[in-house]
Amino acid sequence: MKRLKVSNNVIRRLPRYLRKLDELTENGVSRISSFELGHQLGLTPSQIRQDFSCFGEFGQQGYGYNVPALRDQIAAILGMDRGFTAILIGVGNIGHALMDNFCFAEWGFRLAAAFDINPELIGTVFNGVPIYSMDDLEKFLAENKVDVAVLTVPKEAAISVTARLTGCGIDAIWNFTNLELTEPNSPTIVENIHFSDSLLSLSYYVAERKDEIAARAARAEKQ
Ligand code: ATP
Repeated sequence: MKRLKVSNNVIRRLPRYLRKLDELTENGVSRISSFELGHQLGLTPSQIRQDFSCFGEFGQQGYGYNVPALRDQIAAILGMDRGFTAILIGVGNIGHALMDNFCFAEWGFRLAAAFDINPELIGTVFNGVPIYSMDDLEKFLAENKVDVAVLTVPKEAAISVTARLTGCGIDAIWNFTNLELTEPNSPTIVENIHFSDSLLSLSYYVAERKDEIAARAARAEKQ
């Protein structure tokens, strides 16, 4: 696939486009204009056209976009058809919740194995995924093609486990440990997930709205 350098903001919008196109497909919509797509996503039509132009020409003048074709192209750009494999490290509350409720396969990932240090978990199988000892991590990574490690160990274990993963040349880490992992000298790609980021953005807007209402009330009182 031909890849131009694409901004992070565009990449961050692609999953949103995919979700919307999935929804449209489910509702039997097979064709959509950039105007309508923009309207439904709160973006301008030119923003949509500009985003898609980063990857080549998708739409046709006067026709708009073919929804299933655009969906498949975006899925391919996102790598969903590459058959990526993941492992999960740390089968505690968050690890269990992900293995139980998050459908890796829907997003193109196969969850091949999980690892932990707890002897009660080692050797068991959860939702069809075997849980191995951390002692076997390096051997497993040497013998199996693994692209991404999902990191759900406690914060205190994050650095040492990351060092082992990068030492094995893992491509990427999906990091739920709440410790901001930055590996400037490592080729490993890290996506740090902080649930609080999203809640705090929401908190900002709630606070802003309440301040505006209070300011309006104060102005009205003065008059
Ligand atoms: P959380 O809600 O964060 O998952 P928890 O209370 O369920 O928390 P933690 O103490 O955070 O449990 O540990 C998560 C899992 O990580 C546990 O199953 C624990 O055995 C495992 N774990 C701890 N240290 C390591 C390590 N160094 N390598 C692999 N697994 C580890």
